Amino acid sequence: MPFSKLGLSAPIVKAVNELGYKAPTPIQEKAIPVALTGKNLIAAAQTGTGKTASFVLPILEMLREGQTQRKKRIRALVLAPTRELAVQVEDNIAKYSKHLNLTSLAMYGGVDSKQQKQKLIEGVDILVATPGRLLDMYTQRAVHFEEVEMLVLDEADRMLDMGFIEDINKIIERLPEDRQNLLFSATLSKQVRALAKTAIYNPVEVSI
Ligand code: AMP
Repeated sequence: MPFSKLGLSAPIVKAVNELGYKAPTPIQEKAIPVALTGKNLIAAAQTGTGKTASFVLPILEMLREGQTQRKKRIRALVLAPTRELAVQVEDNIAKYSKHLNLTSLAMYGGVDSKQQKQKLIEGVDILVATPGRLLDMYTQRAVHFEEVEMLVLDEADRMLDMGFIEDINKIIERLPEDRQNLLFSATLSKQVRALAKTAIYNPVEVSI
């Protein structure tokens, strides 16, 4: 199946074609059409399967519309376990949104927050963050959640292993209730399912 059949619009298909992607990977083929309907989704997929594009492309598609009414507030939030992963996901967002007018930022701890704060002031549509730093910035009122329409929990199993459950729950409690949720995890363990149950209403489940 070609990318153009998944329901993605021309600027996004163009970007993936330019990257040399010939066809969607199995997880992309399963997850992208579901995510594009606006439904909640939980997906079992390991790193290396193309899982990042499985949530990034739907985010871009959903945010593409209404760009003109930008309020300079975050509209999609991706939570990731580590700085490395946050940077990698943001890198993917930048590549896939080459032909769109959307902005993104990777936010993580262990570095001075001044630059991250400046970017937030300038306006960020898609924020990729590690949970601890995000809560810290929220407490400092440097981030606002009022406009968040989409939440992604990336590598949920790793975030739980790293002890982020309380931070994640605190973040979720502060998000608008009317939002789409996507969860990706190498395995849908009991703990991951428990997290999904509290945070994600009636999800479609996909695995590869
Ligand atoms: P991920 O599992 O998201 O870490 O992706 C693994 C690698 O596959 C990344 O380097 C992507 O750029 C690449 N990739 C993702 N989707 C595709 C695709 N449909 N065709 C070819 N490469 C892809």
